[in-house]
Formats: sequence, C-alpha cells, structure tokens
Amino acid sequence: MLNWGSGANNPKFKQRRQNLVDKLRDKGIEDERVLSAINMVPRHVFVDTALEDRAYKDSALPIGKKQTISQPYTVARQTELLEAKPGEKVLEIGTGSGYQAAILCELGAEVYTVERHKKLYEKARSTLRELGYSVQAKLGDGTKGWSAYAPYDAIVVTAGAPVVPDDLVDQLNVNGRLVVPVGSEERQEMVRIIKIRKDEFERERYSSFKFVPLIGEKGWKG
Ligand code: SAM
Repeated sequence: MLNWGSGANNPKFKQRRQNLVDKLRDKGIEDERVLSAINMVPRHVFVDTALEDRAYKDSALPIGKKQTISQPYTVARQTELLEAKPGEKVLEIGTGSGYQAAILCELGAEVYTVERHKKLYEKARSTLRELGYSVQAKLGDGTKGWSAYAPYDAIVVTAGAPVVPDDLVDQLNVNGRLVVPVGSEERQEMVRIIKIRKDEFERERYSSFKFVPLIGEKGWKG
C-alpha cells in the first residue's frame, strides 16, 4: 500500500522503530495492533529532516507554528483507548504532522482529520499522500467536529480542551468512543466518553498528560 519514498524504509530507522515499540510495551501499551501500527509508520518522515535522528525517542518534537508531533507513548495510549477497528470511521481533531492519522490508517480505519493551521494542514496532507495513506483532511476549527461525515465510530482529540466539546459528543455513533484530554492549559486528564445508546453515555477518566491547547469556538480562545 505504501510508497515508501524519501528513505522511509531505511534499515537504521526500522531498528529504531522496533526499539521504540519495545519501550512502549514496557511502559504499559498492551494492544498489539497499536504496537504493530507504530512499527509500520515512519515517524521520521513526519518531522523536519534536522530532527529525524530524534524521531524514535519517546518524546514530542516541534513541527512549526508552536505545535508538536505528540510523544509516541501519548499517541499509543490515545489510540489504544480509541479501540478503532478496521473499516470504522474515525475523526481526528488536530492533524498536526499527520502521524496519528497514519497510525489510524494502519489500523484499517477510514480517517477524517481537521487542522486549524493552514501550513500544517498542507504539509500533513502532502506527507500522507507521499506515503500512500488515504485520509480526508480539512482546514478549520475542529472543536465543532466535521458534521458533513458524521456520525463517527471514534473521535480522537490531540490537543487539550477546557471542556468536552459538545459537538464532538453529538457526532458520535452509538457504541462510538470519544478520547479527549480535558483540563487546564498546563495539564489535562484523558477522558473517554462512550455512547452506549442514543442519549446514554459512559465517562471514564485516565491518567494526566500535557497537550498543546485546543483553540477554537468550543475550546480555548486563541
Ligand atoms: N496529531 C498530531 C500529530 O500526529 O502530529 C499532533 C497534534 S498537536 C499535539 C495538536 C494539533 O492540534 C496542532 O497541530 C494544533 O494546531 C491543532 N489544533 C488546535 N486546536 C485545533 C482546532 N480547534 N481544530 C483543529 N486543530 C486544532
């Protein structure tokens, strides 16, 4: 499926990717599908070439516009909580580099993603296209979701929200999962909302993380 240009399949990075997967397993990631997706996606292609040597460390890296590609552990944990199955429709808010979208593609999901920064949106689209990942991408305010394609089986927000954006809850399918970090601008706890029935939800809370802010009409003010 992938057109691995730009040294994406370089053996040096392949070994580092395997080491990263081993580290994530040690840190408690259990879902083998998620780990194997991380083993497939060339994270170094999603960062500036000056940073590619750091791409397989378990840390966030800058991608421009004061934004980051999330720490691999964070991506793995959010993806694990999302429980995305092949063929499911998944919406990501906060495309950033496009890395998380590629991981979702590797899980066999039909991926929709929204980014508010034009430069990041354009760069992510071209990286994903170059690698052969098919993703529907939109430039806009993801705090309002993407109603044109709703409902979604799963929604992941990759920026920290002050509250759970209600439009995202509305755009969930029955049995749908919304994974969103919620809290202050300094620290957020991971929240998972599962839509049990039309108007019935289960809300679970997980450990805390530090994300860049979700900025928009239903998020922080920019
Ligand atoms: N998922 C990304 C990746 O794999 O590289 C990392 C995301 S970065 C931590 C968070 C992203 O959310 C940033 O690119 C930021 O511009 C974006 N963002 C913040 N508020 C947003 C909003 N209201 N709608 C869409 N994107 C938003």
